[in-house]
Amino acid sequence: MRRAKIVCTLGPASDDRGTIRELADAGMAVARLNASHGTHADRAEVIDRIHAVDAAVDDPLSSMLDLQGPEVRTAEIDDPIDLPTDATVRFVEGDTATPEEVGLSYAISTVEPGDTVLLDDGRIETRVEAVDGDVVTARVVSGGELGSRKGVNIPGVDLDLDVVTDRDRRDIEVAVEGDADFVAASFVRDADDVYEVTDAIENAGGDIPVVSKIERAGAVDNIDEIVEASYGVMVARGDLGVECPLEHVPMVQKRIIHSAQDAGVPVITATEMLDSMVHSRRPTRAEASDVANAVLDGTDAVMLSGETAIGDHPVRVVETMDRIVREVERSDEYAETREGRVPPAAEGSQTEALARAARFLARDLGAAAIVAVSESGYTARTTAKFRPGVPVVATTPRDRVRRQLALSWGVDPQYAAYREDIEGMIDAAVDTAIEAGAVESGDTVVVLSGMMTELEGTNTTNMLKVHVASETVATGRSVARGRVAGPVFRCPDGDLSDAPDGAIVVLPATFDGEFAGDTGRIGGIVDARPGMTSYAAMVARERGVPMISGAPLPDDVADGATVTLHADRGIVYEGDVTPREHQR
Ligand code: PGA
Ligand code: MN
Repeated sequence: MRRAKIVCTLGPASDDRGTIRELADAGMAVARLNASHGTHADRAEVIDRIHAVDAAVDDPLSSMLDLQGPEVRTAEIDDPIDLPTDATVRFVEGDTATPEEVGLSYAISTVEPGDTVLLDDGRIETRVEAVDGDVVTARVVSGGELGSRKGVNIPGVDLDLDVVTDRDRRDIEVAVEGDADFVAASFVRDADDVYEVTDAIENAGGDIPVVSKIERAGAVDNIDEIVEASYGVMVARGDLGVECPLEHVPMVQKRIIHSAQDAGVPVITATEMLDSMVHSRRPTRAEASDVANAVLDGTDAVMLSGETAIGDHPVRVVETMDRIVREVERSDEYAETREGRVPPAAEGSQTEALARAARFLARDLGAAAIVAVSESGYTARTTAKFRPGVPVVATTPRDRVRRQLALSWGVDPQYAAYREDIEGMIDAAVDTAIEAGAVESGDTVVVLSGMMTELEGTNTTNMLKVHVASETVATGRSVARGRVAGPVFRCPDGDLSDAPDGAIVVLPATFDGEFAGDTGRIGGIVDARPGMTSYAAMVARERGVPMISGAPLPDDVADGATVTLHADRGIVYEGDVTPREHQR
């Protein structure tokens, strides 16, 4: 299983049902819709398509609607215009653009002479010379061709735009109506902005977690409060690299990832990760290294933008990213960084203390997985925070939580229905982990449960248990108590001369004789016939070996295969699931 998740931006190259399915099969965990492009109606339709694909595939696929936010863009034009160096240009609010006057989606009149206005990801640089009402006159410092609807950045200037625009409110309605799994908030400055987005979602009747995009210099300064107010964060390197000096981006990325991980908040590293693959069939070496380094930094997820939205081969890009990530995750270097950077548990939090302990228990016991029984997803996310070396199989009775956990590092989310009691929940969770192929019968698993009481607060994960996963192959009635593991020996006629030592002797319904040979070799008896008083039952009691009756063993359990007879419970399990201290 890959630990770091892949987020793909959908667009004209990929938002048909067939391609969404192919992307999911290639490893996409989260499908992102960028509200800066397309219409509300299109987005509503694509969200439905994402959910339909989720229903059709095994692994969860979640949907993220990324709000445009207070983003300033240049006017929509048919042909690019030339803005030569040293020319003078006027910026106004409007929807036309000529070399003399460039229309913008919002007035930028809070700028002052001397401020820098950047167009198209900083490719064109201008300096403000005069502000007259809503008209801003600037000189082109570094010229170029300007295309349609390009981004405008004004570093260090607060344009005083609402963090949730009217257009965003309409998108929030789309997200709520379509039951999107995440809303991404663009250009947040502080925790208050995040709360404003959350409020807007609530006012629209929804309860969708917010992923805050860190793409302003000011947001970097407020990272801790933003992380605390958000479900997740995104290192939005595209705008970040224009809003603050480019050379700050690499270290800012590491700091944001660490703040998020320390808070147990999922973090996405975004933009230009495999950018050359928009057209190329192979990434550059630098891009491969960039993806690898984000994983080494500890990111929960890596994101693709234009590569999958408008690229020539979206599926191939995901396959490439998948391979790069897996290679890092196989390395000793990665294991070393993970082991060396286990955050402390937040003081006083039971969930955190148990999740952190589960991480080390799993390592020291050689467990196959941590199974997190989680209602809201909180227990599973907290387990992921400590970046355990084994998969976190998270079972939840809530389908939305199952999808949302697709974003979290190392979490393999599975649906498991509510059961009567906590014991039932745990058994169902371990069975689910076996069915999902994450755990095999006989494997040790560390089970962490935050069920039932989890909703009442964040401090209620109430159980940590070391458990041996076991798959039932037959059930019957207890004749003689005890628990033993041994090789299956089918014995149709009572002849024990070929029986291995400690054999689990399996008697068919037709057995009607007596044992011949050394009964000392019998480790346990599984009788297909019901009854407590047969000849075999007498032998079992006399020799003190466990036995169950009325338990036909299926033919697909091979002779010689190890099974565990748990006679007290009347169950035969696949493999050796006797407690570890009793195993030979
Ligand atoms: P965007 O956000 O693609 O919506 O601009 C990501 C970024 O700025 O990096
Ligand atoms: Mn952005």
